[in-house]
Amino acid sequence: MSDSLKFSTRAVRATQHRFKDAHPVTTPIYLSTTYERNTDGSYNHDFIYSRVENPNRLLLEQTIADLEQGVAAYCFASGMAAIHAIFQGLRPGDHVLIPDDIYYNIYALLKEVFIPWGLEISLVDMSDLEQIEKAIQENTALIWAETPSNPQLKLTDIAAVSKLAKAHNCLLAVDNTWPSPVLMQPLQLGADIVMHSTTKYFGGHSDVLGGAVVFKETSDYSERVRRMQSLAGGVPAPFDCWLVSRGIQTLSVRVLTQSQTAMKLATYLEGNSAIEHVLYPGLTSHPQHDIAQAQMPNGFGAMLSVLIKGDAERAIAISNALQLFTTATSLGAVESLVEHRKSVEGPESATPDNLLRISVGLEAVEDLIRDWENALGA
Ligand code: PLP
Repeated sequence: MSDSLKFSTRAVRATQHRFKDAHPVTTPIYLSTTYERNTDGSYNHDFIYSRVENPNRLLLEQTIADLEQGVAAYCFASGMAAIHAIFQGLRPGDHVLIPDDIYYNIYALLKEVFIPWGLEISLVDMSDLEQIEKAIQENTALIWAETPSNPQLKLTDIAAVSKLAKAHNCLLAVDNTWPSPVLMQPLQLGADIVMHSTTKYFGGHSDVLGGAVVFKETSDYSERVRRMQSLAGGVPAPFDCWLVSRGIQTLSVRVLTQSQTAMKLATYLEGNSAIEHVLYPGLTSHPQHDIAQAQMPNGFGAMLSVLIKGDAERAIAISNALQLFTTATSLGAVESLVEHRKSVEGPESATPDNLLRISVGLEAVEDLIRDWENALGA
């Protein structure tokens, strides 16, 4: 810096980004909100302003599109922000089919925002093809599936529903948060859109919120969803994108191990006389086990629910007696969690009173089973 410059000028200019040729092995975090133009006035890679695009976000979007085998992915500040963009991309007067056991916050978003805005909604049992076909209308624009469903672990046959969607000229969107692309790839099964709460398995450590929308093909509709990033601005911060990208590096080892542990825990719980029923697609007792085998070839996921013999009070007492399962909401991270869902979803919820939802983490399966043995015996 020239000595002729004043102290305050030197303090600002001397700290500008300098080591552009450093070649770091891991991706730096690009906190800069604004980007320098080339001398001809152009910008590189749409890096103009961080709401429009940012290197950490672009890297994450390209990675998620690649893992889901889509052509484009757009990341948002949370799963709900991604879902909001999907519905905002539709038009008032469009009709949407949603599962009758959809993640309860999505239902609240539709009821409080999008129905007043002009979307029409029908709730159906997404495991019942006949019901789905009957509910499709002239103006149906989108079918939404969440499989396995939360918290009853019902499955939607994606290949079959995608045929229905195509026959009726509407889009099929699949919330693939629970299986992750390690266990299920909806675009390969015929879906048009995949949505993720990257807060869960992608992040994997309960320390970052995020959401993503992946498209099999780009279209006017996908462009409207993309525009929501820069128009509404619900974009993830660079550090959040960096954390999710780092989580993705260990996604497959985590999910495969967690899924194997969940299978063993589900099998143990099914044989315990204090349990009324275990809901897990990997068990042959699951009514759609054959669909699970076909569309989740690498494992059945790390989420399961159990119906405890007894009432809500007994279920809550058992969740409190567990030492290695934190009683908390959310899922998909390294630590095991347990939750009495009815208490979270409220009195209108159709979730049974005696249901506990379990998110299996990366602890040793022997320890987790012993923990349940102790809690159920207590
Ligand atoms: N979809 C599913 C299946 C979820 O479980 C959740 C959150 O729990 C969401 C979407 C919403 O994601 P987020 O909490 O990142 O907004």
